Amino acid sequence: MSAALIELDDIHKVYGGIDSPEVQVLRGISLSIQPGEFVAIVGASGSGKSTLMNILGCLDRPSSGRYRFAGRDVAELDSDELAWLRREAFGFVFQGYHLIPSGSAQENVEMPAIYAGTPADQRHARAAALLERLGLASRTGNRPHQLSGGQQQRVSIARALMNGGHIILADEPTGALDSHSGAEVMTLLDELASQGHVIILITHDREVAARARRIIEIRDGEIVSDSASAEPPAAPGVQADELRRRLDRGASLRGAWKGELIESLQAAWRVMWINRFRTALTLLGIVIGVASVVVMLAVGEGSKRQVMAQMAAFGSNILYISAKHATSREAAGQITLDDVAAIGGLPQVHRIMPVIGGELMVRHGNNNQTFYVGGNNTEFPQILNWPVVQGSLFTEADEQRGAAVAVIGQKVRDKLLAPGSDPLGQYLLIENVPFQVVGVLAAKGASSGNQDSDERIVVPYSAAATRLFGSRDPEYVIMTAADSSRVSETEAAIDQLMRKRRQGKRDFDLTNDAALIQAEARTQNSLSLMLGAIAAISLLVGGIGVMNIMLMTVRERTREIGIRMATGARQRDILRQFLTEAVMLSMVGGVTGIALALGIGGALLLADIAVAFALPAILGAFACAVITGVVFGFMPARKAARLDPVKALTSV
Ligand code: ADP
Ligand code: MG
Repeated sequence: MSAALIELDDIHKVYGGIDSPEVQVLRGISLSIQPGEFVAIVGASGSGKSTLMNILGCLDRPSSGRYRFAGRDVAELDSDELAWLRREAFGFVFQGYHLIPSGSAQENVEMPAIYAGTPADQRHARAAALLERLGLASRTGNRPHQLSGGQQQRVSIARALMNGGHIILADEPTGALDSHSGAEVMTLLDELASQGHVIILITHDREVAARARRIIEIRDGEIVSDSASAEPPAAPGVQADELRRRLDRGASLRGAWKGELIESLQAAWRVMWINRFRTALTLLGIVIGVASVVVMLAVGEGSKRQVMAQMAAFGSNILYISAKHATSREAAGQITLDDVAAIGGLPQVHRIMPVIGGELMVRHGNNNQTFYVGGNNTEFPQILNWPVVQGSLFTEADEQRGAAVAVIGQKVRDKLLAPGSDPLGQYLLIENVPFQVVGVLAAKGASSGNQDSDERIVVPYSAAATRLFGSRDPEYVIMTAADSSRVSETEAAIDQLMRKRRQGKRDFDLTNDAALIQAEARTQNSLSLMLGAIAAISLLVGGIGVMNIMLMTVRERTREIGIRMATGARQRDILRQFLTEAVMLSMVGGVTGIALALGIGGALLLADIAVAFALPAILGAFACAVITGVVFGFMPARKAARLDPVKALTSV
């Protein structure tokens, strides 16, 4: 004789105790069920039938007593093994159907197979076949609220059979149905029993119970009669040792993560879509956070590239030195031509040019206007990267003689000279001193500031010093470093030399373009920092939003969680489900944020603000959103996974 499938020995169940009065619901139930049996458990309402069924189906644990399933003590099974039993051995049919409201009939039926790791095509085919067999072929796409009670109950029977359903536990399956639908469901159970399924039918209706081959009556948590017959069941079906072997082997197998992941994603998407308005509001934080991260980085990168382009255009190896007050009480110092010669002798300095200049009245014929006139030396075109395009620069000899020759900017030519005339050889009166034009500078356009660089006249330093400004000392000095990657070392060498020349006094100002640009970049950095803080706060708020909506979801869907557990979901399946939802939520927020950022970037581009989107920045922001989802979704998901199956199922 084969082993009993189910053996209960002196099972007690006590509710309450700590903060509420103790209720003895089951008082010493002992029974055994063989493969192939069709058992009805009858009793009045409140006699403990549902409690007994929850214990039989491993949704609940007894307070005391021993439950052996196929010879194994259920108390010793871990949560994965219990989930296996619910998934592979049992199939539940409840009075309230307990379908997942957001899923179609087909999806509800497939759910236990997903947790069992059945491949998708097999799953679809089997669910469709079961629904067809139960007369629901045309209703596979309907959601529960689009089905009648009888149809919903048939869907739940199909679900119970999905993984085999060797033992069908039906708790008042006809209780909520009209008599016709109820009769249909009973016929179905009859059929299943004759095919070898163990049916445990719970009912308070004696007529319904009469369909079973064995009737157990309970009253106040005790068995008062049991019509157990000695004759073996007609079709024994699956044997206890077979189930036991599969339990020992199967519970440790992991489900197919891919099928579960796809199902989780689909379910997550569905739930999100159903609650799309609420979801959109909650996601604003993440959207704003991600958008500000992306825009901030794009603007930062854009201005950085602009600065780099500027540095490339004007040269970044230029240094300047000018005089300043050493202390507020002392007179300003003076850079002299001797200083210029000394600095020019440093090996780190490549070119050096003293500058003396100012706005002066310039006349040609009847035209006169003020222009910036600068005394420079022959290094001018190289140091400033500013070539002479017509004629030539003055020579070293002109410089030594103090020759009154001038090289003019293009605007000077256009404003003073007759259109179309050759500027070379013509004379300009600068402060009434005649200077002969020997060259024309390339057009440079407006640089920073409002002064037009093409409104400029370049004359030899010596001529400017003696004939125009009456001072031999330069206003400031421009130098280029020999090695553009060592500008700061060059600066240090010049600084050291100058201080030595004036006995440690620092009455000069030494700076360079790179430093100026860096200072500009620093103010931009502090701007970025502020934007970064806004982004971080938005992400935090977004994360709290995700947590909030997930907690709400878990509460709203507690019964769904119970259903999933009853159909065999492991704790980690539930955890994964809700974590997937949280991550998907924040991923949608992230994608929306990136789209928003691209839109803002386009608008900024139209407003002539430099933006440069970098893929790593976009991916980084997206990753931030996903991490937010994981971090803030974890707590609600774990809360869901740790729910007690029975409490979850009976929650309202
Ligand atoms: P039946 O299904 O036979 O109608 P139940 O098994 O649902 O009865 O309940 C049996 C008794 O246990 C009832 O008196 C009910 O009030 C009590 N009971 C059920 N669940 C709980 C619970 N979670 N806490 C306290 N009492 C409970
Ligand atoms: Mg009940």
